[in-house]
Amino acid sequence: MPSPSIVWFRDDLRLADNPALRAAIDRGEPIIGLYVLDEESPGIRPLGGAARWWLNGSLASLAERLAERGGALVLRRGPADRVVREAVTDAAAGAVFWNRRYGGPERAVDAGLKAVLRDAGVEVASFAASLLFEPWTVTTGAGTPYAVFSPFWRACQSLPAPRAPLPEPREIAGARHPIDSDRLDDWELLPHEPDWAGGLRETWEPGEPAARRRLREFLNNDLGHYARARDEPAAGATSLLSPRLRWGEVSPHQVWHEGVATGRAGKFLSELGWREFAWHTLFHSPDLATQNLRREFDAFPWPRLRPSALEAWRRGHTGIALVDAGMRELWVTGYMHNRVRMVTASFLIKNLLIDWRLGEQWFWDTLVDADAANNPFNWQWVAGSGADAAPYFRIFNPDLQAKKFDPDGHYVRQWAPEHLSDDPPPPIVDLRESRQAALAAYDVVKRAA
Ligand code: FAD
Repeated sequence: MPSPSIVWFRDDLRLADNPALRAAIDRGEPIIGLYVLDEESPGIRPLGGAARWWLNGSLASLAERLAERGGALVLRRGPADRVVREAVTDAAAGAVFWNRRYGGPERAVDAGLKAVLRDAGVEVASFAASLLFEPWTVTTGAGTPYAVFSPFWRACQSLPAPRAPLPEPREIAGARHPIDSDRLDDWELLPHEPDWAGGLRETWEPGEPAARRRLREFLNNDLGHYARARDEPAAGATSLLSPRLRWGEVSPHQVWHEGVATGRAGKFLSELGWREFAWHTLFHSPDLATQNLRREFDAFPWPRLRPSALEAWRRGHTGIALVDAGMRELWVTGYMHNRVRMVTASFLIKNLLIDWRLGEQWFWDTLVDADAANNPFNWQWVAGSGADAAPYFRIFNPDLQAKKFDPDGHYVRQWAPEHLSDDPPPPIVDLRESRQAALAAYDVVKRAA
């Protein structure tokens, strides 16, 4: 009797460079792909709306690609520790393979399952696939995690180079007796009433083939401008790989090796280094989305929330051109350029004096690349409470940022054109006064330090 292998797909929705899938193929038994929509395990953060939209497209693509090669994707919903065990029983599976996750609650689920399944005589193995360097391998001489990016990235680069990507399998032997699967449509990951995803559909194509195409296009056509123009939101100079990396439609190893092969990708690859740094930070501080990394920021005197100010920021009606443009780009496309993410985040925290956690939650809900590490890490970076963070007192002036990085107004014209009219909307706060108020509030943190 064959004892099928289950490949449990998570944030690695791809066939190429997928070590868990490779291990299953090497085991030689029929293969069942499994995806679990887990919104119930303690501590696992439910996906935001834009992320659910992306996941739907990416799963549809993965299912199709598995089917073309002879395999199948089984969809199940519920707490992963129960659902995976049930799938193992239903399939009479002899092995389960997965690629590692690095968030605290996810690791707890995975460790528990590994123990239970092994006790039951099932072979279980996990693999490194989503990060270039395993978090426990990059530590200071004293064995502690790095708190500053430059030495962190230097240490990474002194380690053996990331392994070469694995080729995409041509055939995947599916199980003869498939087990029950939910229908993707029944998960209702797509928005309806209202269907707000029109802009997402126009902007993105989820799935591994589109991700690989984008990587190639970027390296062939755009990499030459990257170092010079990556800060200009209208330049289209960045890779747009963030949702693809978030969902694992391409692996960092593929990006790394194809980037290195161009011989001119140093600046671009160091951005992958920031992704590593954010994930290593999350590994060591699993509460990154809720707790200040620098605990003296707990003393920050956030004033009572003005819901109308938060709503104006969310909708892009602050009366500040670059902020409004960015927030609307986000709302329409599920994406915002990095420079503008920094400016909009700084405006929320330092001009509106709204807790960074509320901004982080809005981004979590609206970004297609909403990432459990990158998002809170960068919010804390802007707030000044994070690892290697921008000092709090360095407060972006959004108008000067617009002059510097969108000098011809192309970006603002695209997303918030009324700001370039004769009658622009008035700002909801005075930039200078709010800056002074932020610095005064920060004094409390300094005293607590
Ligand atoms: P590129 O410039 O082409 O960079 C290549 C890759 O490097 C990116 O795809 C991303 O994986 C990684 N990267 C680049 N910059 C950073 C960074 N600062 N930190 C960590 N990784 C980085 N990125 C996310 O992927 N998900 C998020 O939820 C997220 N939230 C953010 C919130 C705020 C407030 C800020 C300031 C930044 C956030 N970022 C986030 C980081 C960054 O803005 C995006 O990764 C980048 O804009 C994605 O565009 P790109 O793929 O074209 O980037």
